[in-house]
Amino acid sequence: MILPALGILLAGVTVDARFESGSIGTVVFDGAGRVRCEVKGEVDQDGRNRQPSWFYFRLDGVRGRDLVIELTGFHGEYNYRRHDGSGHRHMRPVYSYDNRNWLPFESAEWLPAASGLRVKLKARRKSVWIARQPPYTTRDLNRLLAALRGNRYLQQQIVGRSAEQRPVVLLTITDPGDGLGGKSVIWLMARQHAWEAGTSWVIEGLLRFLLSQEAEAAAIRRTCVFKIFAMADPDGVYRGGVRFNKYGYDLNRNWDVRDPVRMPEIHCQWRAIQDWMESAGRVDLFLTLHNTESADYIEGPLTAGGPAVAELGWRFWRLLVERTSFYSPNGPHDQPSRTETRGRMTVTQALFHELRVPAFLMELMVDSNPKLGRPPMIQDRLRFGRDLATILAAVAPKAAPGRTAGPIKAAGRLAVNSTEVIR
Ligand SMILES: [Zn+2]
Repeated sequence: MILPALGILLAGVTVDARFESGSIGTVVFDGAGRVRCEVKGEVDQDGRNRQPSWFYFRLDGVRGRDLVIELTGFHGEYNYRRHDGSGHRHMRPVYSYDNRNWLPFESAEWLPAASGLRVKLKARRKSVWIARQPPYTTRDLNRLLAALRGNRYLQQQIVGRSAEQRPVVLLTITDPGDGLGGKSVIWLMARQHAWEAGTSWVIEGLLRFLLSQEAEAAAIRRTCVFKIFAMADPDGVYRGGVRFNKYGYDLNRNWDVRDPVRMPEIHCQWRAIQDWMESAGRVDLFLTLHNTESADYIEGPLTAGGPAVAELGWRFWRLLVERTSFYSPNGPHDQPSRTETRGRMTVTQALFHELRVPAFLMELMVDSNPKLGRPPMIQDRLRFGRDLATILAAVAPKAAPGRTAGPIKAAGRLAVNSTEVIR
């Protein structure tokens, strides 16, 4: 029996994904009590590069049932290369009885013929939420930012609007009492790809630490400026998207296109960084955060950037490996400084190539992490975010005193490149 995804009743069981970030395709209940859920996936502006990485839905009326859930349709295409989905074979989806506390399924079985995964659960409550990894919505971020509003070390600024008119918010964290002269400027970005919710938990951990009363955080605020795009694709996150904006554009490609209508997110982020470079003169370290299935690594212009950038990359990698759960046995990856095909340039390539910013990508695995012995959960991500803040502060190149451009110092306040500032 084939049923649409929402609100269907069968023997008292319903499925629902009509909430923020919710996503599931066709759902089939078979007579033997199995629930077969097709993952929706998402394609780009040309109908290519199908990515199946996100699902998030709720089953109701399941208390006491022995659930067998088969998630299917993980085949796809990455960078124009088709794959059979087997890269997802070690996936351990998560479940929750309250939509807040998440646990990985104890085991999962790969089903090659269906390009799918089978998980089992004896349901203890009437409702269970199921997702690829613990979700993090625009509402979660807004709630956090509302709680932090009024913190004197945080400025929230709307630098533009997404295709669906959601605000693109830039956060600035520093000690305003110290001015900006001589501080290291560290610029972070997360959720260029909507499914990568784990990176938002990292950002939350980093924000909570940097804005805390801890002496170590206070010291970092005196020597560093953090600029953060916490949610680079708010529309995608809201709709339960995977990798592309409203019009199908990959927001970590296309940085050489910058179309204000079809990719307003890239357009306003680029403009904000460029404005900052013009007024403040530098970004000492840029990092965009991403999730992969099964690999932790950082990647940057090690060769193209010369010895100083290579040394920065290796030092950054070494501290991550020594101090955190970051599992990356083979050192930092080298990234070509640019791409020849229009529409394929990443944010890190654009920033390095056009602005000479030492720009790095970080991938964080969602599958079981060998150091943790399990998939990283919310507490692991929060802790990693805290550690990441201290490591970034330790490795970011130190500016010579007074190197920050005059106008900002003279104004004695943070540069504002939009008239719209959230108080
Ligand atoms: Zn990504």
